[in-house]
Amino acid sequence: MKKEDVLKTLHEISMDPFPYLESKREKGFKIIGSPLADVPSELIHAAGLMPVTILGTNRPIVKAGGHLPDNACSLSRSNLELVLNYQPRSFDGFVFPQVCDTTQHLSDIWKMTISSEFFASFLIPRQVDRPSARHWFYAETRRLKEQLEAYTGNPFGREALEESFSLYNEARRLLRKIYGIKRKNPAALSNRQLFDLIRAFCYMDPRDLIPMLETMTENLPKEKAEDENVRVVLSGIVVEPSQLLDILDELGVSIVGDDLTVGTRMIAYDVPEAEDPLEALTARHFDKSPFSPIRDVGTRLYDHLLGLFETTGADGIIFFHIKFCESQDYDLPDLKHIMRERRIPMIVLDTEYQSVTKAQTKTRLEAFIESLYGERENG
Ligand code: SF4
Repeated sequence: MKKEDVLKTLHEISMDPFPYLESKREKGFKIIGSPLADVPSELIHAAGLMPVTILGTNRPIVKAGGHLPDNACSLSRSNLELVLNYQPRSFDGFVFPQVCDTTQHLSDIWKMTISSEFFASFLIPRQVDRPSARHWFYAETRRLKEQLEAYTGNPFGREALEESFSLYNEARRLLRKIYGIKRKNPAALSNRQLFDLIRAFCYMDPRDLIPMLETMTENLPKEKAEDENVRVVLSGIVVEPSQLLDILDELGVSIVGDDLTVGTRMIAYDVPEAEDPLEALTARHFDKSPFSPIRDVGTRLYDHLLGLFETTGADGIIFFHIKFCESQDYDLPDLKHIMRERRIPMIVLDTEYQSVTKAQTKTRLEAFIESLYGERENG
């Protein structure tokens, strides 16, 4: 496959993974979906199942509104709509993570509303600095393994787990390599193309993805190139609608880093080697960077973002706020205050899955990027 064909295929899968997932099903795989975030895909994969991160839909909300209040976050509404209305037969089961109040309620609604062969909730500790958090995560991981084994009827052990760890680690390593190439040479691939690859990682079996990523890494230019674009760091959970990345490409912006859950946080943390594979999954979880509903000390989200801004030499920060995400709502006042105090240019964009062509968002982005170019000229 040529590099251009890989990019086209992965773009198509990132926009609509269901034909690919159907082909996996025809090969005998059961499709297990999980909304964001932090369900260990490796565990589901080691059970001989096909784990998929559910990333919502940009199509209109028709049915989900009847099950969720109007002020439920756009991500939850969009996920429920996708499974209830647009892809009701594409999943065989679900592992549902509870990371915030919304996902806690949605988990029950999901279980009652959507019929599937398998449903497991995965309760993730939100305050990760408590000593009990580690024990809790380990116990949840073990409980999930037992539930998967009961579903498939096939107990699985260290060998299967280590094989899955190594496949996912390899896919993540290649994605980090491609991100690194783009940082050195922003023209090597567009912002949209980079994030298409990360979305594809959420949807694909690493056995299928790895050869494609190898083709990419072999054929991308490796040399450093001058970059005239303004450099930004993206922050938040997910960039939705993903067409916003096309706008950043049109405006001459280079993404030099991010703390996005569907971004660096998804690809940066490998499963380490350990005597006990479930302990390895637990250790990886606690290595991860903070995400709005999951953190230790209160300032860690801001400290991490400030560090990213400084180490990447970015000109500004674009924060993507998902409409009605209450976890982000709690973070934003402090985050804005800190950035203002330090005179770091930051824009907060309110995003919604169903607003694909929001002219106002584009206008605000244009004005922000222009101001970054202006600041650069003025030294
Ligand atoms: S963290 Fe925010 S976006 Fe994610 S499910 Fe909870 S409220 Fe929604």
